[in-house]
Amino acid sequence: MPPLIFRKGLDMKAEVAGELAAAYHSSLVDEIRAAGYVRRTGRLTVHLAREFGFCYGVDRAVDYAYQTRRKFPDRRVFLTGEIIHNPHVNDQLRAQGIRFLSDPGESWDRLNEDDVVILPAFGVSVSELAALEARGCTLVDTTCGSVLNVWKNVRRYARDGYTSIIHGKATHEEARATASQATALGGHYLVVRDEEQAAIVCEFIRRPGDAATFLATFEGAYSPGFDPLEHLERVGCANQTTMLMSESLRIGEMIREAMVDRYGEEGAAVRFRAFDTICSATQEGQEALEEMLATKPVPLYHPQAHENKGELISTSLF
Ligand code: SF4
Repeated sequence: MPPLIFRKGLDMKAEVAGELAAAYHSSLVDEIRAAGYVRRTGRLTVHLAREFGFCYGVDRAVDYAYQTRRKFPDRRVFLTGEIIHNPHVNDQLRAQGIRFLSDPGESWDRLNEDDVVILPAFGVSVSELAALEARGCTLVDTTCGSVLNVWKNVRRYARDGYTSIIHGKATHEEARATASQATALGGHYLVVRDEEQAAIVCEFIRRPGDAATFLATFEGAYSPGFDPLEHLERVGCANQTTMLMSESLRIGEMIREAMVDRYGEEGAAVRFRAFDTICSATQEGQEALEEMLATKPVPLYHPQAHENKGELISTSLF
């Protein structure tokens, strides 16, 4: 029998609402928001970014994790890894008895059909999903819709013979999961970390050079069998959603320009595909932080804070 997969929650939203509010809601944060994102108490001033808290994808994933624990009180419940890189949230989940397969001593090999496994908002790789299904685990899939959209593009690129150029960190779980969507269909990918690496790719597109040197530069960040001389001739852009949207778009434009230089406008039109789905949550959080720092540029541990006026500056949670 195929494993049970929950993709739209477990119909227990109301039951966990109180627990979630107790763990993550703060009346103080509400007050600071209502007061224009600043609170002054004596010599201390607290500034809060206008975007503060989880993005909608993480909010949903944490909600589903709490629902899962409630729904299956007598079964072992696992997360494939950290649900979010935030120690407080992960500690709260551990405190409920949710185990992390990435923790020392845990093993995917010991999972069985009685276990429940939660897939995080950034998803898991195609092979990891297959392994969990093969073990018959009940799955709670919290993969964010915006990540699924990226995957849809990457699969389309692979089917149409385009290499996915993924703006992200090659070792990050989401980038690896996205890359696996390409290779599962026999396609190729190359992960570029930043504009500096994108410039190296652009230079190679314009003037193909020594493939071995290129591959050494991007070691660990490309698909098996990737040959830059062949697999940079048709490319499509994708991104790890926690990268800055503005940087992803700039990298997309850099690569498009390189394709135009190499193949002309008409050639580039059929050899290059841009993003059409980008999550703006990270960008909005980053911009809110920058805006706040521009308004009051006193760093968190500025010496002035220990003299005559304390200034506490918040950062976003995700
Ligand atoms: S950053 Fe965007 S894509 Fe990633 S989980 Fe949050 S909302 Fe979803």
